[in-house]
Amino acid sequence: MMNKKNLEVYVHIPFCARKCAYCDFLSFPGNQQMQREYTEKLIEEIKCQSAKVKEYQVISVFIGGGTPSILSIGDMAAVLHALKEAFEILPGAEITMEVNPGTVTAEALSCYREAGVNRISMGLQSADDKELRYLGRIHTYDEFLKSYQRVRMAGFDNVNVDLISAIPGQTLESWKNTLKKVTMLKPEHISAYSLIVEKGTPYFDRYGEHGNMEKCHSLKSLPDLPDEDTEREMYYLTQEFLNEQGYERYEISNYSKNGYECRHNIGYWTGVEYLGLGLGAASYLNGCRFHNTPSLDEYCSARLDQEEAFQRVLRQEFEQLTIEEKMEEYMFLGLRLMKGVSAHGFVSNFGHNIRSVYGMVLDAMEEEGLMEYKDGYYRLTSRGIDISNYVMSRFLK
Ligand code: SF4
Repeated sequence: MMNKKNLEVYVHIPFCARKCAYCDFLSFPGNQQMQREYTEKLIEEIKCQSAKVKEYQVISVFIGGGTPSILSIGDMAAVLHALKEAFEILPGAEITMEVNPGTVTAEALSCYREAGVNRISMGLQSADDKELRYLGRIHTYDEFLKSYQRVRMAGFDNVNVDLISAIPGQTLESWKNTLKKVTMLKPEHISAYSLIVEKGTPYFDRYGEHGNMEKCHSLKSLPDLPDEDTEREMYYLTQEFLNEQGYERYEISNYSKNGYECRHNIGYWTGVEYLGLGLGAASYLNGCRFHNTPSLDEYCSARLDQEEAFQRVLRQEFEQLTIEEKMEEYMFLGLRLMKGVSAHGFVSNFGHNIRSVYGMVLDAMEEEGLMEYKDGYYRLTSRGIDISNYVMSRFLK
């Protein structure tokens, strides 16, 4: 029998109770009818897309958003059932669901678990209620705690908590307090990102290059962002504190207890192919990159069983990558991992020795003390991690 190729599946649920002020993801509030219609279309998509990936076996599923836990239990159960029917999901595959502390019930959690979800990712962001309000989150820290207990009571033993540092008004002390409170709960995994002020968000109007106070009347009273020095201190504190608490940093912004690295994300950073399902979801299949339409109307009204509509709605910005682009991506993503890029993996993926392609850049980066070679992997040094954008850009044409 022919060996099947590995595939990761991402499912996008674009609805949120309310839009957070810093968020530029494809997400928006949606009423129950919208959610119902979306679920039906998503299930139709799952069936149509599965026919195109028969030569693959699924090694991980990530249901993200938006806020997946906002869907009714019945709708989410139907989505999970459709995924199982449509794809060859390997036994033991990692199946993650993102939940928002303000939206998840014990009943929903046990339904997810019964349906095969074995990892929960919770967006906390901060343990300080004032900071949560500044971010526009719908939950308090206390509500998060209750949800966290429900997650554990439902039997989940693989839980991620998302955190954000450099929030308006945040001090080194309050960030340390967030880290302390969260590590006391002993989640298996912590993602800790620094806030990025993205264009098109209310935060950008308030804090962007030319902060436009007129446009963001409601955010006028928000304190300033921490200055660059404080942000740097927060960044170093994160590593130091989480390491002390037994979390290993395995990617620039991700930490885990031993053996609990997020397999879905590692797959993404090491070039495993992925199929995105749902609004705006991106895919990388057979060396081609494309994404689904980001328009809810277009998505929900499409006749996906007709090839023309399928291609138009689910294969947008279709792009066949050249071998050079694939190599660049492999380096660019792989260098995010602390382990680095495997020299052996490079040969088996591309049939070329990594040094024959990138020897000059690798030597230059090593000379500058930004990269090193160890046990078959090229990786960033701690100085290289600090200026990772610069190092990664050196691998792009
Ligand atoms: S809950 Fe997440 S996806 Fe939804 S608006 Fe807030 S940050 Fe964005």
